[in-house]
Amino acid sequence: MVVTTSKPIEEILRALGAGRRWVVLGCSECAAVCQTGGSAQVDEMVERLEEAGRTVLASISLDSPCDRRLGRRDLKRVAAELAEADGVLCLACGGGVQAVADVVDVPVVAGLDAHFVGTVERVGVFHEECALCGRCVLNDTAGLCPVALCPKGLRNGPCEGGVDGRCDADPEAECVWERIHARLAGQGVGGFGAYQPPPDAGRWGRPRRTRPGGGKR
Ligand code: SF4
Ligand code: SF4
Repeated sequence: MVVTTSKPIEEILRALGAGRRWVVLGCSECAAVCQTGGSAQVDEMVERLEEAGRTVLASISLDSPCDRRLGRRDLKRVAAELAEADGVLCLACGGGVQAVADVVDVPVVAGLDAHFVGTVERVGVFHEECALCGRCVLNDTAGLCPVALCPKGLRNGPCEGGVDGRCDADPEAECVWERIHARLAGQGVGGFGAYQPPPDAGRWGRPRRTRPGGGKR
């Protein structure tokens, strides 16, 4: 899930500029889980814009704003309002904002900041546990990701900085390699698994894309 937070309203109003008439879009997927772009946040944003003297012509939550196919389909429901609007305020991640901007003819303003792909602990508490490195090592690390969970991104065992099992770079955290070792030992596996080559630079280069059949850029 893409973890997002709301931009301050002052920043949003600055980005809206002189435009008076807006359509507000939310996201019923990741941003809804983050409580930054769900229907309640869309309603709240409509109120705040109207308090700030803007007119909201329509508001709608899209199933997945990042999916251009769904955007093209669902935005037909507000086609008349979009034709009259000065722009769209989009409460979705950056991917969603850009996909929406491709399928409407008016400026699209981002209402959220996107941070990382995260797992959910509870509302408002998310953890980055995958850095999307493109060459997954989880099968050799007992399902714990050293790329995301080690501040130094060490793929082949610990540094020498840890103290009493804690990470020197993040004292709040246990060294992930201690956790990997303990989990592997609990599973009856000795050592740290296979040597992991460094990430292929081509897999980190941006923009990344996948192709039918599994090919990458
Ligand atoms: S090794 Fe870590 S960062 Fe890379 S794909 Fe696997 S979980 Fe994600
Ligand atoms: S102590 Fe462990 S988690 Fe921290 S930087 Fe070193 S190897 Fe990574």
